[in-house]
Amino acid sequence: MLVDDIPVLFPCSENARFYTLTEEGNLQFHHDILKSAFFILSGYHEWDNPELIDAYGRYDYNRSVQKELNIIDKPLVNYYFDVIIDGLEAFARFHSLELRRRHPFSGPVLLMTHDVDRINFFKIKSVLSRWLDVFVKGDSQYCFIDRLRFAWHSSLRYFAPLAHPNNLYYSFPFLIQTQKKHKIRSTWFMLNKRRGEPAGDYTFNRKPIQQLVKYLQNNNCEVGLHGSFRSLKSVENYHDEVSQFIKYFSIEPNGARQHYLVGTLPELFRFQSSAGLVYDSTMGFSAREGFRHGYCHPYHPFDHDNQMMLPLWELPLLAMDTTLFEKRGLENQRILESLDQLLSECRRFNGVFTFLWHNCRNNQRVSPGINLFYEELCSFIMQRVDSSLTCKEAIDIFEQQINSKE
Ligand SMILES: [Zn+2]
Repeated sequence: MLVDDIPVLFPCSENARFYTLTEEGNLQFHHDILKSAFFILSGYHEWDNPELIDAYGRYDYNRSVQKELNIIDKPLVNYYFDVIIDGLEAFARFHSLELRRRHPFSGPVLLMTHDVDRINFFKIKSVLSRWLDVFVKGDSQYCFIDRLRFAWHSSLRYFAPLAHPNNLYYSFPFLIQTQKKHKIRSTWFMLNKRRGEPAGDYTFNRKPIQQLVKYLQNNNCEVGLHGSFRSLKSVENYHDEVSQFIKYFSIEPNGARQHYLVGTLPELFRFQSSAGLVYDSTMGFSAREGFRHGYCHPYHPFDHDNQMMLPLWELPLLAMDTTLFEKRGLENQRILESLDQLLSECRRFNGVFTFLWHNCRNNQRVSPGINLFYEELCSFIMQRVDSSLTCKEAIDIFEQQINSKE
């Protein structure tokens, strides 16, 4: 059922309005808005249907309630809360009461994030596996020509070293420089490669990685944990992953995002809370950009097993490069159009626009023009938000605002 073009998941009547203010000044809601909000925001459907997973164990977008109801493009929960506040404002006006609407952020905010999966384009194992990928597609997202181009370019270094003086995945200086130019703050999630897991090529104990983390910190970036598949196997594993991070980088991670966006609810959040993390930013779909939990503000995830809210904050992930380029196969212009739609929703609610871009994407040899596009993208997003923060900064401001007595 649609009311004011907003889907109502649990209608309680045929009434085509959300609420009525009666002549006596009573406020009556005609549909169960809170139940609808809780259903989406808490991820009830994915918790209740654990079999709806893809090959990596992720809640499958193609079988999700978000796809079925066609609600992925709207932060539905923000709309619901707005309806409730509208009703309360009407009630307050009628009774001459003072009610002030508060916004934790004064405008939409960009959270630019990077999952650092790979740093070495020329790693011999990666080169060999790229040649294998050319002939055996497996679960690769790339077409034959792209796979061939990858393999060819990564091999060149061995035959003509001068052709590739630089490591093509080491795009950190470019990304940081571009972000500084556009006043973008960023958060980087580091992955401790585990044997047998896909798409990771370094471990925390290596000196160059520790130097990279220092370099990011020296450039005012936040560095967090990119949780491996292994970290999800037990709470002890999660603790171990965080301990390794602290041991080798000498900093405590404030938050994490899981590799491949894998993680079951509510175990993932329980593990992260128990390991002392402040926030997670895994809750987006790999197959589709949009509002997985219908919300564009930080929120506390719900533990359905124990019927309680968790102390952790979730910063919902709205879009990532892999989804836009490979999963959806969008051209640059279509990518901007899609982001424009998400950004306009964030602007409506002064929400956070959490975006993920992989450092290995900026491989100029394999993807000519990609650096130019990244620049264009940064400028495009910054024209549509008021500011950019690191993830922890966003949480700090949000907490400060909601706890303020003003
Ligand atoms: Zn990853």
